[in-house]
Amino acid sequence: MTIKPVRPQTNDSRWAGAKEMRYKAEGTAPFRDITRQVLFQDPALACELRYFEMQPGGYSTLERHEHTHAVTIQRGAGRVLVGDRVHDVREHDLVRTPALTWHQFRAREDAPFGFLCMVNATRDRPQLPVADDLEALRRDPAIAAFIRM
Ligand code: MN
Repeated sequence: MTIKPVRPQTNDSRWAGAKEMRYKAEGTAPFRDITRQVLFQDPALACELRYFEMQPGGYSTLERHEHTHAVTIQRGAGRVLVGDRVHDVREHDLVRTPALTWHQFRAREDAPFGFLCMVNATRDRPQLPVADDLEALRRDPAIAAFIRM
């Protein structure tokens, strides 16, 4: 398949030729109201650029892994847990998730929330928190209030 050099953005959350896909297979991990599009995939770059979008109240999986993420907020505003802190983020902010660091993105209750995420094309599978991990995370009241499972 030939991919056109320019693929216009067709609305606030779609690009020409990019299929909106499930975030993950249902039942494999906790998440809510979030979709995924792969915007760039090129073996020569060894990375992928994806766009994730959550509906109001949606959230990504609380997870960690060896690979890192470089994220640019593209649409709206939300909150993100990275490691031991919950941050407010809005359009054009940059977020880095380091290796083996717990992270979760959450939309606000009143608006969609979208972000671009660059990631290694070849990467390890996300780890989900076990009971001990959740207990440690929940010792911080701000994190306890934030995380969704
Ligand atoms: Mn991740």
